[in-house]
Amino acid sequence: MQFLVSLFFKFCDTWLPIWLRPRHILDLRQRAGAWKRVRAEHLAKHPACEVCGRTTNLTVHHIFPVSIAPELELVENNLITLCETPCHFMFGHFFSYHCYNKDVRQMARNFRAKMSRRKCTKFR
Ligand SMILES: [Zn+2]
Ligand SMILES: [Zn+2]
Repeated sequence: MQFLVSLFFKFCDTWLPIWLRPRHILDLRQRAGAWKRVRAEHLAKHPACEVCGRTTNLTVHHIFPVSIAPELELVENNLITLCETPCHFMFGHFFSYHCYNKDVRQMARNFRAKMSRRKCTKFR
């Protein structure tokens, strides 16, 4: 039995593309579960877009994207709550999901401060 199992893993390691390997899939599932938990905890602590303050259609954005910094995927410091449109796209990604904005926290703080002092016309 042991032999068959090791043969199976040998087969996987040799013949299956990396994204089809069982251990890899297991790892992905675990990470997906952990992300769900970390995301929920972050949203409970920061329940509003940190740029505009809206509380609907929120996303938890990775400041350094998982593709370049997988070790930061679950790190609180690398997360910021943003609303999907427009703050996530503008402030988080500079208008392209291929890009990221490492200063998003600073920019969100500045923008929020300016927004709180904005001048408005009266409704008629
Ligand atoms: Zn927003
Ligand atoms: Zn993002």
